[in-house]
Amino acid sequence: MNEFELIQRYFTRHAANAVLGVGDDAAIVRPTPHHDLHISTDMLVQGQHFFSDVSPYALGHKTLAVNLSDMAAMGATPCWAVLSLALPQLDKTWISEFSEGFFKLAEEHGLSVIGGDTTCGPLTLSVTIFGETPPGQALRRDAAQAGDDIWVSGSLGLAALAIQQRLHSNPSIPDSVIAECTQKLEYPTPRVALGKNLLGLAHSAIDISDGLMADLGHILARSNVGADIWFENIPTHPWLANNRRAFAEIITAGGDDYELCFTAPYSAREKIAKLAEDLCCSLTRVGRIEHKKNIRLTDKFEQPITLSNSGYTHF
Ligand code: ADP
Ligand code: MG
Repeated sequence: MNEFELIQRYFTRHAANAVLGVGDDAAIVRPTPHHDLHISTDMLVQGQHFFSDVSPYALGHKTLAVNLSDMAAMGATPCWAVLSLALPQLDKTWISEFSEGFFKLAEEHGLSVIGGDTTCGPLTLSVTIFGETPPGQALRRDAAQAGDDIWVSGSLGLAALAIQQRLHSNPSIPDSVIAECTQKLEYPTPRVALGKNLLGLAHSAIDISDGLMADLGHILARSNVGADIWFENIPTHPWLANNRRAFAEIITAGGDDYELCFTAPYSAREKIAKLAEDLCCSLTRVGRIEHKKNIRLTDKFEQPITLSNSGYTHF
C-alpha cells in the first residue's frame, strides 16, 4: 500500500457539507453567509502529548477531541477539518484503528474531514479545524467582566491524576479510580453543545487543557481583571475530593481534562442551571471575576492556598 492508497482507504469519507473534499489540490467549502469563520490548529506529539502505548483508537479520538474542544471554547459549530499525519511506518492495523476512533467522533459532531497531509516521520498528529458562529457572538477570552461568576463543566484533575500515576505509581490510589481517570485522559469529551448554548449567555470561555489556574489566567490577562477561586467548590472525582488538600495541584493545575471554564453574569445563573440539566453536564460555580488584577485561591475559611505549581507549560 502506498501513501495514496492509504489516504483513499482510511481517510477519505463523504464530506457532506463541503463542495469538494479529499482528493484534489485543495478542498472547497462554502461557509454560511454572514457568519464568522473560526480556525484553530492543535498538534499531538508522541512522548509529549501521549504515551507511546496508548491504543490507536483512543489516539484517533483524542486527536480530534482536543480540536473540537477549541471550537467548544469559542461557542463555534465545528464544520470541517484537515488532518496531517507523520507516521514512522505504514502499519495498516494501527492506521485503521486510529481512523476509526477519529471518524467515530467526527460523525458524532457532523464534522467532515476535507483534506490533510501524510508523511513519514516521528509519530505526530495535527488537525486544523474550522467552525462557525453567528457574527460577533463568539466566546472570547477578552470579555470577562468584574462581578461575573466563574463556572467549570464536568470535573477536573482526573486526567492529571492518571498521568501522575503513570509516571510515579502511588499504591494508595484504588485501581477503579485510576481506571476512571485514565478513561478521561484517553477519551476526553469535547463540550461542543455546551459552548454553542453559552452564546449570548456567557461573557468569555476557555477550554482547560493546561489546568484551571493557568487557563483561567489567560482569560484574566486578556480581560484585564482578576479572580477569586474557592478551592472546595472545584468539581473533581469523589476520591480526589476526599483527599483534596493532598491533591491540590492536580485539581487546580492539572491539564488534559478538556472541560470548559467560562464566565457569566449573575443574571445568567438560572439559565445555566437549566442548561446543565438539559445537556446532562454538571456545571459548577467556582469563583468570581474581580476588579483587582491577581488570582486568589482560598479555602472555606477564606485562607489563601499556595500551590507549588500552577499549570502545565510546554517548554
Ligand atoms: P499534494 O501532493 O497536492 O499535497 P497529497 O498527495 O498530499 O497532495 O494529498 C492528496 C489528497 O489527499 C489531498 O486532497 C489531501 O488533502 C488529502 N490528504 C492527504 N493526507 C490526508 C490525511 N491524512 N487525511 C485526509 N486527507 C488527506
Ligand atoms: Mg501533500
